[in-house]
Amino acid sequence: MLVKNQGNQPDHREEMHQIEKEMFLFESPRNNRMLAALPAEDYKRLRSYFEHVRMSPGQFIHEAATPVTYVYFPTSAIVAPLYEVKNGASVQLAIVGSEGFTGISSLLGGGSSPGIVVQAPGYGYRIKEKILKMEFERQGFLQQLALHFVQALMTQMAQNAVCNRHHNVEKQLCRFLLMSLDRSSGRELQMTHEQIAIMLGVRRESVTQAALKLQTAGAIRYSRGHITVFEREELKKSVCECYSVVNKEYERLLWTRRTHRSAVHGPWGGTKGRQRERTMVRKLWRAPDCSAGNQISPSPDFGSS
Ligand SMILES: [Zn+2]
Repeated sequence: MLVKNQGNQPDHREEMHQIEKEMFLFESPRNNRMLAALPAEDYKRLRSYFEHVRMSPGQFIHEAATPVTYVYFPTSAIVAPLYEVKNGASVQLAIVGSEGFTGISSLLGGGSSPGIVVQAPGYGYRIKEKILKMEFERQGFLQQLALHFVQALMTQMAQNAVCNRHHNVEKQLCRFLLMSLDRSSGRELQMTHEQIAIMLGVRRESVTQAALKLQTAGAIRYSRGHITVFEREELKKSVCECYSVVNKEYERLLWTRRTHRSAVHGPWGGTKGRQRERTMVRKLWRAPDCSAGNQISPSPDFGSS
């Protein structure tokens, strides 16, 4: 329920607090779709090592050029690798939510990674890098998923570079909002114009102008660091092709039955029970429907905790 503040503007803090409490109660590592896609026995091996963490906006969960000690699997938070230039400016390289994880460079043998900042608050699970690396080196399901995710993330980073150079701020903002919605539950986003400007590498005033245009068109409402998207279709009409280019790649690599079938038939044999599990995994591993009013249901825990 919304609370009116003195300026007669809706105050979403109580509403968000309630949502957070509910999310916390239903949290499981399986709320991260990468972990939801793991076969039960792989998940069981890792389950006890996961630590539930809250991630606050602006918090650096990993500092640049330092060894990765923990790998994070967001469940409701959205994080972003961030590059900071010497003059103090920052640019977001990509965004990662419940479809992925951080600390990729460590798994690939690189050791360190860019700084990772929390873009939208929420929860997630972290696990010691050494533990996850051992699982990765088993060359099983996790490795296949992780490599597919890396390829999808590379596409997102490349397309971001194209977008920043060739498309105007309004189109970039639409892309950013749609991608953020795809990685969160519902239609609410907590972020300021300043945060978005940093993420896009543009001036805050440009974001404010673009957001005002979208608000006037009835697509969004912005209030005190809180964005509500009313008309997702309106954003889709205004967004550049970069959004669909990236989405198609995520779909092809991570969210299609065909890709998943090829992944699960790799290092494992086939039994009837295993086949049933694979079917469940494929059903779980779908792109979320984040259209207005639709919530992503918590992924079922297979009772391996
Ligand atoms: Zn673009």
